[in-house]
Amino acid sequence: MKRLHLNLNLTGVIVTLAVGVLLPVLLSTAVGIVALVLAKDTAGIVTGVLVICFAVTTIGSALVALVLTSHKARLARSQADFVANVSHEFRTPLSAIRLYAQTLQSGKLDDDPEQTANCIDTILRETKWLEVMVDRVLTWRAASKDLMQLNLERRPVTGAVDTAIERFSSMVPPGEVSLSQDIESRIDVAHDQHALQAVVLNLLTNAYKYTNKVKEIDVCITDNEDEVVIAVKDNGIGISTKDKAKIFQAFYRAGEEHREGASGAGLGLAIVSNLVTRHKGTIDVESEPGKGTTFFIHLPIAAEVTV
Ligand code: ADP
Repeated sequence: MKRLHLNLNLTGVIVTLAVGVLLPVLLSTAVGIVALVLAKDTAGIVTGVLVICFAVTTIGSALVALVLTSHKARLARSQADFVANVSHEFRTPLSAIRLYAQTLQSGKLDDDPEQTANCIDTILRETKWLEVMVDRVLTWRAASKDLMQLNLERRPVTGAVDTAIERFSSMVPPGEVSLSQDIESRIDVAHDQHALQAVVLNLLTNAYKYTNKVKEIDVCITDNEDEVVIAVKDNGIGISTKDKAKIFQAFYRAGEEHREGASGAGLGLAIVSNLVTRHKGTIDVESEPGKGTTFFIHLPIAAEVTV
């Protein structure tokens, strides 16, 4: 509805410009040209040139107005999409929390301590998803406005990766994900523990969201000569070659037809890319649609980075 309204506004502006500006300007240009052709003295030539200059200036102003208006409309549209996507993303855990809380409140499970414990566990898990989503929006705001101070410390990345895995494991139902890890690393990397944890957690939540029923995720750290590589691999829906180039842009969401209602606001990978770049690292992705995806975070070893 909102999009339709914005499109109509833009169409209105274009029609108004065409009728109200273009026609009079074309007429004035014609008048200017005729005045120039028929000019018998300097005054005639000056008049013709002035009329043509006026027409050219008006067309220029109209074009600038059109560009600004369409830019504003695009911005308003992406803001509306963002608010809708974030609300949709928040609604899923909120609905689950309400449902399970109502079940507990109804007293139906009073004689079933096991189910009661399951209910409480689910409520806690959904609350953790909510926390991660709120963190993501706040991190994006801080990162995009350059308000985020990184506290770089030289140490192996194992601690940050391990904390992210622990946090992720507490968010998903037991047994739903087969998560393997090989996260030993001995090399120091100058990194902000909190930021690196956010990077890995974003990749893990994506690996979970964009994978079908059988979820296999593998996290692995490799120490190379001049860098440490963190890889997060899944057996999910994959990413097409066309989308690979765009997924790190803020608000971009790929593969609507395959992601089976997985909600999101398109911020996770933009945050990952921002934080990795600020660690002077790089990120790349290997993916095959229908088979799975691996994200690689390359971080330079501490000696290479000036803290
Ligand atoms: P969000 O998940 O909120 O949409 P992201 O920025 O984290 O935003 O991801 C952008 C897009 O990249 C997603 O919408 C999805 O289409 C695609 N994507 C990210 N991670 C994966 C993955 N592991 N497997 C398949 N597609 C992915």
